[in-house]
Amino acid sequence: MALKLSDYKTDVHNDWCPGCGDFGILNAIQMALSDMQIPLHKAAIFSGIGCSGKTPHFIHTYGIHTLHGRVLPFAQGTKLSNPDLEVLAVGGDGDGLGIGAGHFVSSGRRNVDMVYMIFNNAVYGLTKGQAAPTLKLGMKTKSLPQPNVNNSVNPIALALVAGFTFIARGYSYDVRHLKDLIRKAVEHKGLAFIDVLQPCPTYNDINTKEWFQGLDNTNPESGKQMPRIYKLEDTGYDGTVNESGEIDTKLAQVIARSNEWGNKIPIGIFYRNEHIPTYHERLVARIPNYMENPPSKQHISDTNNKPTANINKLLDDLRVDK
Ligand code: SF4
Repeated sequence: MALKLSDYKTDVHNDWCPGCGDFGILNAIQMALSDMQIPLHKAAIFSGIGCSGKTPHFIHTYGIHTLHGRVLPFAQGTKLSNPDLEVLAVGGDGDGLGIGAGHFVSSGRRNVDMVYMIFNNAVYGLTKGQAAPTLKLGMKTKSLPQPNVNNSVNPIALALVAGFTFIARGYSYDVRHLKDLIRKAVEHKGLAFIDVLQPCPTYNDINTKEWFQGLDNTNPESGKQMPRIYKLEDTGYDGTVNESGEIDTKLAQVIARSNEWGNKIPIGIFYRNEHIPTYHERLVARIPNYMENPPSKQHISDTNNKPTANINKLLDDLRVDK
């Protein structure tokens, strides 16, 4: 029987602030899972700490609300242990690009076949709006006593140099476009990253929904309002690497577009490269039956519920005084 969108929703009370962009992202994830008809027991959603950390509570699949900045190790370990699962990791920009920045970079080197989404609102919303790593230098949101003294991280460029093989940006109030990005990220063979611009109406009073809509951004000649958000695909941009000879050109255009901010902000797929082996493919090159017998399918106890691991032998092997 076909799964309905409502099957992917839980009845857990949601206490995000009214108007929070997180609602759009949550809807887009549920719509993408429903579109792809992913069985509830075949998906696992992991989160870090922050407002976005509550996401797995609202999705009726497996899910774990993990530790601050540590969502990627949990999610990657699960995918490696059980390659049959569709694994999504979510977290805020503070969680993923502050305390979790080391894991972000290391993950790019591995190319585990899963999706990581950052809910990017440029502030630490759960702890009253301190400056997060994507807040631009000199910006003073209403929760800051002084303008931000740090420069900002560019998540798209960082993902590129770290080695992510699918890099996209979405906008939380364009739910259908974001849903399509999530679907393409899940279908991508390798590690996919989506930077989702997400207004935080409670603490970020600068990058608001109205600001992204460009209500203050008028064309001096026509007097018309110009939305800041535009779609890469509407400009003929193509981020897909079709053959190795075009990699340098594709990399350069990602850097150029990722630096656009202010009056023009691109969303869409910046980069897609399926020519890099996934971590599972690298494992299979060393352990040929890995996919048939991954850790999640191995027995850890016998029929009498006795552990099959022989800890005494292991300890003997590790003794240094023998
Ligand atoms: Fe959303 Fe900001 Fe409220 Fe957190 S503090 S729930 S990010 S509006």
